[in-house]
Amino acid sequence: MVERIMNGGGRFQDDGRTLADFVDEVVVVCPRCSDRALVRPLEDPAADPRSRWSLLRRVTCGHCGYVREQTKPTMSIGAPHDPYFSLPLWLTVDADGRTVWAFNAEHVDYLLQCVSATLRVRAPDPDRHRPQTLMERLPSWMLAASSRDRMTKALRALATRAAHDQTVN
Ligand SMILES: [Zn+2]
Repeated sequence: MVERIMNGGGRFQDDGRTLADFVDEVVVVCPRCSDRALVRPLEDPAADPRSRWSLLRRVTCGHCGYVREQTKPTMSIGAPHDPYFSLPLWLTVDADGRTVWAFNAEHVDYLLQCVSATLRVRAPDPDRHRPQTLMERLPSWMLAASSRDRMTKALRALATRAAHDQTVN
């Protein structure tokens, strides 16, 4: 898999995951010490996957001890900040003058595989009722063949950073 990504190209099979599948742990910049902090649900999202987005969140920083909890469910997505506290995301990278962002290491890996592929296969939708997948919602500038090399390089750098974070935590 790594070999294939290093060489570029390959095939990406959309497995039907949406952005909601990556929201259980969001890595952010701590508002107090600017180190790496985590936004997680207060309750187990596995108990009711439909409520994944709407569960109240807590942000915690293992470096300075910062903790904040939501008291009301509010959420906004689409910008390089977390959907709950609007803190800047930790995993962002500049590519072609635009900001590519990810919630966590798994999200980076998904984007890297999707962006670097030369063939992308859509997820099946037999009854046309499934939600739009993450791949289907990615902007065209990320998926254009002309920017593949630059996007792949930027995301590979982001993946290296995310992997390093997990070793130092
Ligand atoms: Zn902190």
